Parts: sequence; structure tokens; C-alpha cells
Amino acid sequence: MIIVLKPKTPPAQEKRVLAEIRRLGYTPHVMRGVARVVIGAIGDERTHKSLEVLMTWPQVESVMPVQKRFKLVSREAHPQSSTIKVGKNVVIGGGNFHVMAGPCSVEDEKQLMTTAVAVKKAGATILRGGAFKPRTSPYEFQGLGEKGLKLLANARKETGLPVITELLSEQQAEMVAEYADILQIGTRNAQNFQLLIAAAKTGRPVLLKRGMCMRIEEWLLAGEYILANENPNLMFCERGIRTFETYTRNTLDLSTIPVIKRESHSPIVIDPSQGAGRADLVAAMCKGAVAMGADALLIEVHPNPTTAWSDAAQQLSFDGFAKLMRELKPFIAAAGMK
Ligand code: PEP
Ligand code: MN
Repeated sequence: MIIVLKPKTPPAQEKRVLAEIRRLGYTPHVMRGVARVVIGAIGDERTHKSLEVLMTWPQVESVMPVQKRFKLVSREAHPQSSTIKVGKNVVIGGGNFHVMAGPCSVEDEKQLMTTAVAVKKAGATILRGGAFKPRTSPYEFQGLGEKGLKLLANARKETGLPVITELLSEQQAEMVAEYADILQIGTRNAQNFQLLIAAAKTGRPVLLKRGMCMRIEEWLLAGEYILANENPNLMFCERGIRTFETYTRNTLDLSTIPVIKRESHSPIVIDPSQGAGRADLVAAMCKGAVAMGADALLIEVHPNPTTAWSDAAQQLSFDGFAKLMRELKPFIAAAGMK
């Protein structure tokens, strides 16, 4: 921590600050400038007591942290990019590009199975589908629950595609993990820390969406909960944040791709479906995400999007998805991925 004292602080007041820094377990180093005294407090900010309280002292002008608050998710701690094994054959990160695709919600056997077959044929390697849906209104379709998980498991059996599905509640962690190959933590639960711990403890890979009002540092710290609970299989997923813009459902923040790559070793996945909220914008956002170095995409696909029970405006048709997959090929190659 760097502590800057106000100009003309009397020596006795400076001494009290130094004593407090020592009392909190840090070693102070005083740097005397022309107008100000700056104190470097040496010690591990993540394990020592916070010095931020000094902000309230009248002789202190500012207190600035020099260390990052996240540790295990940081690239500093783990310089090599992590790879996440999903199911038997899929590895996310490390130069392999993957597309996770499927309906927003699992609706019935035919809807899911035809989608699974179609997305696999077009080149998707993971099947998505919500069985427990976090709906804004209690009157909207809430998902098929365990029945939906069983349909996902059947679709995996038929197609060989591993499955990603959302975990909504701590109580269901073990049950959902029995069916799923990746647990999705949705935007609304991104800082539900007890849920993050329960998801981590299942041992399944966790895809952590960015909270719609979350800063990147908060997102990294939420990811830290997964790794701190002995689960190294974390993926970050950008799905758009709330801004003043209403043209799109959310503002898909693609700048998080280079930022997460710089700050963390965990893969970054982009969800352009929730991000744009409009099927007609999905392809462009996907191409941008691939060009910027995303490790994977999470895309909503439905046999007949206009009749979908959730998120009808943003789901791609089978043809639309197959066309997108063809168009993505040169972008994947140009990004140096396979
Ligand atoms: C979804 O993937 O369908 C979903 C509900 O995602 P999010 O949590 O990003 O809104
Ligand atoms: Mn959705």
C-alpha cells in the first residue's frame, strides 16, 4: 500500500501513521518529497489487515493498493494459460476453439434432440440447454427442472456432445452435476458466493458468467471463489452488461477478452446471444470475439426460434447457425486456432 500524507503534516502526526502501519503488520518506508511525505507499507495486502482505514485519518490524503486482490485466478500465479477438460474429448483453451450451442431452454425431447443433432453437424462440440431457468418474471417458463436434465443426458448419449447447463441453487449442486459436464453460473448469480462454493465443490468445470452490473475485478474475485475451493476448472463468460443503451439487450463488452487474457490464465468464453439479444447481430459479434482471441462461444440455437419458450428474439435457426459456423472458419484460422 502507498499512503500519501497531506502537505505540512506535523512530525507527531506522521509518527502516529507509522505506528499504525506497524501495528497492522506492515513495515513502513518513508519517502520525503518537496511538498509531501509518501509512505510505502511493505507486506502482503491479501493476508494482512487492510490499511484502507487510514483514509479516514485527517493527516492522510490517499491510500492506494499496489497488489491485486485476486491471487489464484491471476496470470502472475499461473503464467501458462489453463486448459479445461470437458467430458472425454473436449479441451477448452490452449489454442483449441470450441462452440457450445443449443436452445436457451430445454422444452421437450424432439426440440432438444433435433437441435443437438443439427448443432453437432454444423461443428458445435458442446450442447447447451437450460433446465433450471432464472426468469425475470415468476410467470414466465421456469424450465423443465430434472426432466430437462434427463433430456440433456439423453442427447449427450445420442450425439456424444458434452452438456452445459445452469445451476441455480446450492441445494441442487450435486444433482445438476450428476447430469452436466459444465455447470453454468448465470449473470444473476455471479456474486452468489455460497452457490459458487457449492458449484466448485462438485468438481465439475464451472462457466462463470459476468454479472450484468459487475466490474471486471469483481468478476475475477468471484472466479477466485472457484479456485480457492480447489476447483481449477474455471471459465469466464462475458454475456453483456447493463448500460444506458437500449438498442441491444445488453452491451457485449468484448474488451474483456484481452483483459481476462492479460489478468488471468482461465479461458474466456463469449455469449453473443444474451449479449446482443438479437439473432441478426449474433454472427458479427461472434466474428469479433474470435478475432479478439476468445477461447469459445456460447450460442443459442432453436429449431423454430419464433416459438421458443424463452429468449425467442436471440436464438439462431439451424440454417443460421450452420451458415455462421462456415463463416467463422477463416476467423478461427486467422486467430491461430484450430
Ligand atoms: C442463458 O444462458 O440462457 C442465461 C439465462 O444466461 P445469463 O445468465 O447470461 O442471462
Ligand atoms: Mn437465454
